[in-house]
Amino acid sequence: MQIKNRISAFQEEMTSWRHHFHEHPELAYKEINTSKKVVELLKSFGIDNIEEGLGKTGIVATLENGTGKSIGLRADMDALPIFEENNDKKYKSKTDGKMHACGHDGHTTMLLGAAKYLSETKNFNGKVILIFQPAEEGFAGAKAMIEDGLLKKYPIDEIYGMHNMPGLEEGVLAIEAGPRLAAADNFDVEIIGKGAHGAMPSNSIDPIVCGASVIQNLQHIVSRNSDPKETLVVTVASFNSGDANNVIPKSAKLSGTIRYYNNKIGELAKKRFFEVINSTCKAFDAKAIINFKKGYPATVNHQKQSEFAFNVAKKIIGSKASSSQTPMMGSEDFSYFLKKVPGCFAWIGNGASASLHNPKYDFNDSILTVGSSFLASIAEDRLS
Ligand SMILES: [Zn+2]
Ligand SMILES: [Zn+2]
Repeated sequence: MQIKNRISAFQEEMTSWRHHFHEHPELAYKEINTSKKVVELLKSFGIDNIEEGLGKTGIVATLENGTGKSIGLRADMDALPIFEENNDKKYKSKTDGKMHACGHDGHTTMLLGAAKYLSETKNFNGKVILIFQPAEEGFAGAKAMIEDGLLKKYPIDEIYGMHNMPGLEEGVLAIEAGPRLAAADNFDVEIIGKGAHGAMPSNSIDPIVCGASVIQNLQHIVSRNSDPKETLVVTVASFNSGDANNVIPKSAKLSGTIRYYNNKIGELAKKRFFEVINSTCKAFDAKAIINFKKGYPATVNHQKQSEFAFNVAKKIIGSKASSSQTPMMGSEDFSYFLKKVPGCFAWIGNGASASLHNPKYDFNDSILTVGSSFLASIAEDRLS
């Protein structure tokens, strides 16, 4: 296949870009030098229609050839606050405590590879909008770009994006319609009781005993309130209180996450969450201060665009294209795009590597050209 052959020739330079990004990780909305490097490379490919600073540190580059439709291709650029442990790698992070542990260095590089090919060949009719977004890791860079006018300034008919997946066979593209990643809401709760000597529990309102009941009761939202055919996670991930063995403390804090695909289930879980906490606390004569934060929506692929993307994947990797990857309960802010524009979010196998957000994780350079070919083919085929 022509695209794959041409892009395969970029392997060496793409690897050097990826290693550059890996060595110089920047956190959410601080992707200053990463953006600069992206713009420098785009310009070196002859692309001059570039807007910088959309959604703080995002970049939009437009490739135009003819009057056809407009396709958006998106990559994320931010790193994570993690100390890298890949001491054997020459291109290990040069900044202690910051690391590309989710492979966004690879995602950015794959989109750059597609940009280089598309600007060189211009074998499409319409517009390709290249979106390099900031702050995917918890700070909703996609939403920031949309709120900054991305989709108004650059109307797009369809959008495509991709994330690497450790454990999925190297270079496999896994694509399916429907929910792929969950909506993720987060909470912090403070239970206010009354402190007392550990030997005098009747003088206290014990926030630890109350908190333990709250945690138990929250588990019943999944087991007794939610339709068993629906997917719902309620996790209390931290529970902290007290610091002496003979003092009943005044308060306890707990935090966690609620995850789901279906918004109706999310609404039910939220309603029951408040009811369970408030009524449990009331039974103990305690009070609760609840801080509930809506997170990313569920990432739901559109049918037609997913079928199209799957067929493109088959053209590139043949029978290795997969449509049997089960949905996951992680979350991803590509979901904000999919709520506005039809599109598809694909997985690309990173092979047997450490998991995402692990200090030993590394993006697999041997999948760079497959990912780039996939993105470039989407643009060519959709705008043929
Ligand atoms: Zn991540
Ligand atoms: Zn990621």
